[in-house]
Amino acid sequence: MSTKESKNPFDSYVKNLELCAEKLKLDPGIVKRLKYPRRILIVSCPVKMDNGEIEVFTGYRVQFNEARGPYKGGIRYHPNVNLDEVKALAAWMTIKTAVIDIPYGGAKGGITCNPLKMSPGEIERMTRRYAFMIKDFIGPYIDVPAPDVYTSGREMAWIMDTYSMAVGHKVPEVVTGKPLEIGGSLGRESSTGRGLAICTREACKKLNIDIKNATFAVQGYGNVGIWGAQILASWGAKMIAASDSKGGVYDSKGIDPKKLLEHKEKTDKVQGYPGAKSITNEELLTTKCDILLPCALENQITGENAARISCKIIGEGANGPTTPDADEILYKNNILLLPDVLANSGGVLGSYFEWLQNLQRDTWTEEDFNKKLLDKMVKAFNGVYDMSQKYKVNLRTGAYMIAVKRITDATEKLGLFP
Ligand code: GLU
Repeated sequence: MSTKESKNPFDSYVKNLELCAEKLKLDPGIVKRLKYPRRILIVSCPVKMDNGEIEVFTGYRVQFNEARGPYKGGIRYHPNVNLDEVKALAAWMTIKTAVIDIPYGGAKGGITCNPLKMSPGEIERMTRRYAFMIKDFIGPYIDVPAPDVYTSGREMAWIMDTYSMAVGHKVPEVVTGKPLEIGGSLGRESSTGRGLAICTREACKKLNIDIKNATFAVQGYGNVGIWGAQILASWGAKMIAASDSKGGVYDSKGIDPKKLLEHKEKTDKVQGYPGAKSITNEELLTTKCDILLPCALENQITGENAARISCKIIGEGANGPTTPDADEILYKNNILLLPDVLANSGGVLGSYFEWLQNLQRDTWTEEDFNKKLLDKMVKAFNGVYDMSQKYKVNLRTGAYMIAVKRITDATEKLGLFP
């Protein structure tokens, strides 16, 4: 284990890219192009706060790569948003859209702010100002934003409206993850969690774990964790622990995901759930269970705590929760880790389905949506799994190998301009 483990998520991306380039024996010139974002936009957004004072928020949009299609990726509101993080998230989106094999590149955006301490009016003014400032760089065939940490359909509606006002007509296909009333899709809200649950179930099959008797723990009880937990529970698995930013709860007898959600909606936290013991986030990660689902933020499973992780499968609902040092330890300890670029790709896959419906002015049933999601997730899982078996590498490297091959093939066919 290295003592100087980097917590810069972009370094994690480059490390994984290099590992995969070595395995694939890629031309260094092509690999070099995958180490730089195409374009970085940094904007300052002045906003009148409710107390009359002006606050200036820094916003980012990093467009990483578009060899395979328009840039695609979410927008995050969080106090820790910074350029290195957004760059890493944009690079991961590039890998993710290629792993799940949809015709997109990768991008990501964010605003450094604490939305939990802002009023809806302040968030709306900030969102609209940000949208206006990036409007010339996004568009249905250029770059299509979506929700990410602490953003949802509400923010997507404001972005769509601001963009549409600027161009003079309604453009639902400029963002995905919208409310149903304005072109959102049935199935999109649960699609990240559903994809995560599907991948986890496929992994259980490989390890001969019966999903009906499996136990799981969820770090980060937000959109992905909540839906992932409910779907796994509907297949018979038992949630024994869950946490949010304020701490966690544990009950070996099982916690009902729906009841925990109701409790969180009432009290704003998971702690205090009747009958469950309070635990810390760190304790949650090392809880003995079959499946651990880190669904919060980056750098949660690191060289420091990886040896104490005591589960059989990790499904990365979050982006970048595991550092490269931790990856090595988990692989040696025979823990099957489903990497973010595969495990949470149901979200962007759902976004793609929404975008297709918007472009065709069509609506699909939830059944159709979920069926298409299932087929594509299972196919992607098996592709990554087989690759990892063939090259004797972990699933992350397997996923990167599939993605980087697809991206570099497209890059070569396009040639280099001028
Ligand atoms: N924010 C999600 C992710 O990290 C979804 C992105 C999208 O749908 O474009 O994959």
